[in-house]
Amino acid sequence: MAPHPSTLLEPHTPPAVTTEPHVIVRGEGLTVWDREGRSYLDATSGMLCTNLGYSQPRLVRAAARQMAELPFFASFAHRTSDVALALADDLARLAPLPMGRTFFANSGAEANDSAFKLAWYYHQCLGRHDRFKILSQERGYHGTTVAAGSATGLDFIHRGFGLPLPSYIQVPCPDPHSALRQGLTEDDFVDRLVDHLERLIAAEGPDTIAAFIAEPILGAGGVIIPPSTYYPRVQEVLARHDILFILDEVVTGFGRTGAMFATTEFDLSPDLITVAKGLSSAYAPISAVLVGRRIMNTIADGSRAIGAFGHGFTYSGHPVAAAVAREALAIVVEEDIPGHVRETAPALMKALADAFHGKDFVRDVRGHGFLAAVTFLTGSGGRQEGEWGSQVMAKAVARGLLVRAVGDTIIVAPPLISTAEQIETMVALLENAYRSALAETD
Ligand code: PLP
Repeated sequence: MAPHPSTLLEPHTPPAVTTEPHVIVRGEGLTVWDREGRSYLDATSGMLCTNLGYSQPRLVRAAARQMAELPFFASFAHRTSDVALALADDLARLAPLPMGRTFFANSGAEANDSAFKLAWYYHQCLGRHDRFKILSQERGYHGTTVAAGSATGLDFIHRGFGLPLPSYIQVPCPDPHSALRQGLTEDDFVDRLVDHLERLIAAEGPDTIAAFIAEPILGAGGVIIPPSTYYPRVQEVLARHDILFILDEVVTGFGRTGAMFATTEFDLSPDLITVAKGLSSAYAPISAVLVGRRIMNTIADGSRAIGAFGHGFTYSGHPVAAAVAREALAIVVEEDIPGHVRETAPALMKALADAFHGKDFVRDVRGHGFLAAVTFLTGSGGRQEGEWGSQVMAKAVARGLLVRAVGDTIIVAPPLISTAEQIETMVALLENAYRSALAETD
């Protein structure tokens, strides 16, 4: 086999690959540049995370200030930093649930792992010693650590690792398109999903299940927007059994849907919310679990018997990451980023619908806020599964546009500062890529 061209073991890349990676060296606003000097409009916001664009000067200054003042101090054994405390206060003011406290970690997956442990600890505090199972959804994405990866409902995250662990159980994906395929009305579809959940809980035993984790809109699984009645009904079932509801707002938090949190927008009442990505606009690795008051009170009481909460990371509440996150949140609030997304999202949907709706080999176009997708008909136009997605993505990149393909779905998730005109330019480049692919169809 030819030698690998670099010493980097690249995430989400086949280790056998022998070609050079595409190397990005600089970013400003919505644009990044590669090593060859080519520029790209980034319609993926990094990985749905650089919400405020690249090289935001306020974020750069906040990081530099904190580096000079206190580059590191651990939050450990009842000693912490002023900036970690201040960020927790900021989040308590913004949080869309009756707040207890905030726990900090470094990535979305770590936040979700932490939420599972908080759910386990909560049940232990109540003397429920068998509550360890975690429910999640097929095609849900919660990260790739052993625990979060087990909750992620995508085969390629499990394959080769013996995942999911045995106590992780997935329920069917609430994809409205599968209702269509089965010839069901949306109400009948939701009835079936809720019935499935009820029967699963009864079969497993409610006293063995700790929590249910889900994204308000499934992002990395291909922008799947569940029917509006789905989560309220799921929530009612969970509450009846005191199975904790963990809402993964790692992508949706801080404006992507056109609200500060999807929790408020969809009128949900989770027990725990996980956030990451947009928390620092991805300028520094930081994530958090927002722990609801009811859960926090139980944990605080119960810990008298169990002892210290034996969970945390060297970098929990890292001062530089916390300072950057404080500044990012300040910008999101001052510039009313959720309001901008709400106002501009119709331009994104219109541009995508004009370019793709009803066009050859296009299954559908959908979106909410700045989280949108085009799905091509799998197997159509003489192509294998996933070929439409990879071909259109490659042609978009060749035209100076970064988009993400998941199978035959192209995800379009512009930075939240994008104007309507910039979004129209992105969609025009994507349409051009599609037309070029179409021209190669027999
Ligand atoms: N949750 C959601 C909804 C995500 O989209 C992601 C990453 O894309 C994660 C969790 C995991 O975040 P991280 O990659 O920071 O571990």
